[in-house]
Amino acid sequence: MSTSPVISILRPTRNPKALYGDTHESCPTPSTLDLTTDVAIVGAGPVGLMIANYLGQCGVAVTLVEKLDSLIDYPRAIGLDDESLRTFQAVGLADKVLPHTTPWHAMRFLTPKGRCFADIQPKTDEFGWSRRNAFIQPLADRVLFEGLQRFDNVKVLFGREFEGFVQSDSDVVLNLKDKNGRGELLRARYLIGCDGGNSLVRRSLDISFEGKTAPNQWIVVDIANDPLSTPHVYLCCDPVRPYVSAALPHAIRRFEFMVMPGETEAELSKPENMRKLLAKVLPNPDRIELIRSRVYTHNARLAGRFREGRVLLAGDAAHIMPVWQGQGYNSGMRDASNLAWKLSLVIKGLAADSLLDSYEQERRDHAKAMIDLSVLAGHVLAPPKRWQGTLRDGVSWLLNYVPPVKRYFVEMRFKPMPQYTEGALIVPSEKAHR
Ligand SMILES: Cc1cc2nc3c(=O)[nH]c(=O)nc-3n(C[C@H](O)[C@H](O)[C@H](O)COP(=O)(O)OP(=O)(O)OC[C@H]3O[C@@H](n4cnc5c(N)ncnc54)[C@H](O)[C@@H]3O)c2cc1C
Repeated sequence: MSTSPVISILRPTRNPKALYGDTHESCPTPSTLDLTTDVAIVGAGPVGLMIANYLGQCGVAVTLVEKLDSLIDYPRAIGLDDESLRTFQAVGLADKVLPHTTPWHAMRFLTPKGRCFADIQPKTDEFGWSRRNAFIQPLADRVLFEGLQRFDNVKVLFGREFEGFVQSDSDVVLNLKDKNGRGELLRARYLIGCDGGNSLVRRSLDISFEGKTAPNQWIVVDIANDPLSTPHVYLCCDPVRPYVSAALPHAIRRFEFMVMPGETEAELSKPENMRKLLAKVLPNPDRIELIRSRVYTHNARLAGRFREGRVLLAGDAAHIMPVWQGQGYNSGMRDASNLAWKLSLVIKGLAADSLLDSYEQERRDHAKAMIDLSVLAGHVLAPPKRWQGTLRDGVSWLLNYVPPVKRYFVEMRFKPMPQYTEGALIVPSEKAHR
C-alpha cells in the first residue's frame, strides 16, 4: 500500500483541470480519511463484480462501491458467449453460473413471411465452451456477487454514491456519499470506473463518448412459465413492428418489440396495450405471468480513452452497443479478464505501471468492432428504409445457396476474434525486427 501523502478534495469536481497536473497540489488536506484500499471499483454491475473476483483471487485489496442498496435485478442481457464462460471459469465460478444458462443457443433471422434467412448456430468450441449461451443476467450477477464472499480482501459497500475524485502521482481519492448524505473519502492506488453507460468517472475525466443513439426504442418483456416453449432466439424482421422472441433458462420467455413513433412506455405498459402487443406472438396473451417490461434506448458509443493516469474505464463505461449480437455484457467480461491480471501484477510490484497501457491497446479496437457488428445486425433486423428490407430478403435467399456464405453465418465467422495487433505480448513488427 502506498504511504504517500493523501491529496483530496472535500467536494465533487467534474472539472478535469482540477483533477490533474499541478491543480491537485493546491487541494486542501482532508481532516480524516475513512477508507483505504489498493483498487477502488465504482459500480457493482457484472464488470465491477468480475474484476473484484479476479483481484480478490489474486489477494489484492479491493473496495467496490455501489450507489444502489442491492444489485440491479431487472431483465437485461440474455446472451453469454464462450469467452465470458472462460472468464467465469478463471475465477472459479463456471459451475455456479452454468445452471442459469442454455448452451448451443441458435440465433435465427426470419423474413416477414417467416422464412429463416440466417441461421447462426456454431457447433464448435474453440474456447472450451459453447459459443452461444442464453442466460439470465441478474442470476449471473448474483453468482459473481456471492463469489466475492470467498475473499476477506474484497469489501462491497452498497448505498454509497461516488461523487468525484482527485488523483496524484501515487493515489486516487474518491468522494463518496452514503444514504444519509454523509461524505466519506476512500483512498486507492487505482480506480476503475465500472459505473455503466452514464459513467460519472468517465465524465469527470472529460473523456469523449462518441457514437450514435438509435432513433427507435425497444420494449423488453420477460414472461415466466414460457407459453411458447420453442427453443433458441428468433429475430423477426417484420416491417410493421420488428421483434425478438427468445427462450431463456428457467422457462423464461423474452420478447423485444420496437417502439413505434408516438408510442410511450406508459402507454405501451397499460394492460390492454400489452395484451395487443403480445397477441401478435402468443396464442393466449391474457394468460401470462409477466415478470417485468421495460423500455430501452440503444446506443453505440466508445470512450475516447480507457485510461487516464491511475483511473481506468471498463464495461459500459467504456463502450455501449445495441443488443443484437449480445455483446455488451461479453465485451465487459473481456475488459475484466484483460485488465485484472495486469493490475494485480502492478499492485504487487511485479510489473511496471506501463503494463496498464496495453489494456486500451488490446481492448479498444475489439470493442469498436463489436459495436460496428451490433449496429449492422440491428440494420438487418430493422433496416432504416423499407426497400432495404426487400433487398435483404431477396439477396439472403440467393446467398443461402452459396455454401461458403452459409457457413460464414452458421459458424459465426463474422464475429471478431479476440486477436491483438499490439499490446503486452505483441511487439509491433518494425520493433520486432530491430
Ligand atoms: C435490454 C438489454 C438487453 C441486453 N442484452 C444483452 C445481451 O444479450 N448480451 C450482452 O452481452 N449484453 C446485453 N446487454 C448489455 C448488458 O446488460 C450491459 O452491457 C452490462 O450490464 C454492463 O455491465 P457494467 O457492469 O459495465 O454496467 P452496469 O451493469 O450498468 O452496472 C453499473 C453499476 O454502476 C452503478 N453506478 C452508476 N453510477 C454510480 C455512482 N455514481 N456511484 C456508485 N455506483 C454507481 C450502477 O448502479 C450499476 O449497478 C443488454 C442490455 C439491455 C439494457
